[in-house]
Amino acid sequence: MKVMKFGGTSVGKPQRMQEVAVLINHDSENKIVVLSALSGTTNALIEISTAMAYGNKSGARQLIDQLEQHYRQFSKELLTSKQALGDAEKIIQEHFEFLQIILKISFSEALNKDILAQGELLSTKLFCVYLEQQGLDYVLLPALDFMTVDANDEPQIGAIKVKLAQLIKKHGDKKIFVTQGYICRNARGEVDNLKRGGSDYSASLIAAAVNASVCEIWTDIDGMHNNDPRVVNKTFPIEQLSFEEAAELAYFGAKILHPASIWPAQYFNVPVKLLNTLQPSAKGTLITEQAGSVGVKAVAAKDGITAIKIKSSRMLLAYGFLRKIFEVFEKYKTSIDMVTTSEVGVSVTIDNDLQLAAIIKELEAFGTVEIDTNQTIVSIVGNEITETKEVLQKLFAAIATIPVRMVSYGGSRHNVSLLIARNNKEETLQLLNEGLFGL
Ligand code: ASP
Ligand code: MG
Repeated sequence: MKVMKFGGTSVGKPQRMQEVAVLINHDSENKIVVLSALSGTTNALIEISTAMAYGNKSGARQLIDQLEQHYRQFSKELLTSKQALGDAEKIIQEHFEFLQIILKISFSEALNKDILAQGELLSTKLFCVYLEQQGLDYVLLPALDFMTVDANDEPQIGAIKVKLAQLIKKHGDKKIFVTQGYICRNARGEVDNLKRGGSDYSASLIAAAVNASVCEIWTDIDGMHNNDPRVVNKTFPIEQLSFEEAAELAYFGAKILHPASIWPAQYFNVPVKLLNTLQPSAKGTLITEQAGSVGVKAVAAKDGITAIKIKSSRMLLAYGFLRKIFEVFEKYKTSIDMVTTSEVGVSVTIDNDLQLAAIIKELEAFGTVEIDTNQTIVSIVGNEITETKEVLQKLFAAIATIPVRMVSYGGSRHNVSLLIARNNKEETLQLLNEGLFGL
């Protein structure tokens, strides 16, 4: 059994969705196909939800109508048989009627989650109508019947495993199972989701639960690249990464894979493959527990970082100082990414500044607090790079002209991270591409 996950752009155009049907029929291995919503849909649903939250019913209605038009057009281009067109029409009607009814109910967070779930429900159902039209044998497994999270929003892998096994057993003769990414049920039994980009996470949880031979993540790029292809003009796909390397890259900015999707695959040792629907025969990136060759593999950047420096002479020779500081972040549920310390100060970075004002207020009890906003973390990732001395030499020679605010080295053997101002990012990535990869 393997898992094949297709993202929003891979199903976002009728022709692309048809190509997905070809791809899943390419080999005879049993598979679970996980789909995202059509590209743009989740954003549109968020807009609808926001309009409702602000009581802007006419605005919400207009957005719903627009989206409905989009789906009508989509299904007309996707399908040809009368039967299939009729089935699709019913599905579209059902889901958009639901949204129209929701308009009349007073808005709540639970309702918001219901609205957001419509994207994946629609994409999978329309895809199944197409499979039906093409005469392919499949079963639709509703994610809401097996994908559950606990009260802390953590997926219940044990329960998922049991429920999925039961559902699959019920359809023992089938080879193709289709399901929704992203959506789940929470501890209260309500419809919920695994956060933006969460379909990757769904796919790896499913792959872990069924002990899949591989978890294939299909997008529109040929794997993880050595540098950000949106910023730097010459990049190349990386053939092989370890789970640790992939986790660092995904967390620190490589947009191709949701960072949370690494742990289930790693823990249950399921290889992950990043593949390209536009170029299905390209090698892509294989992620396994194997570390591969020593050296720099890739550079990734994460924007929207805030640096916080706490300076205090009381820190000198004192113990327990760091704990007190970290406790403030814990209290405000704000996770810290980078940390550097000197004897009289400590700098940390956060990527979520929602609670910044309250955090600063509490930190001021310990010393002077300085804030730098609009920072970017640039991570250099590769197997044992901190053991190889040329890496640091090359790294700092390459970016000699760039002011560096923080350096994190030695936290793991696979990562060196720099904090720079956001407006130096493009130049930094370009310089690193030249200095570390000779491109
Ligand atoms: N449709 C959801 C989103 O856009 C989940 C996903 O695509 O992974 O965030
Ligand atoms: Mg995605």
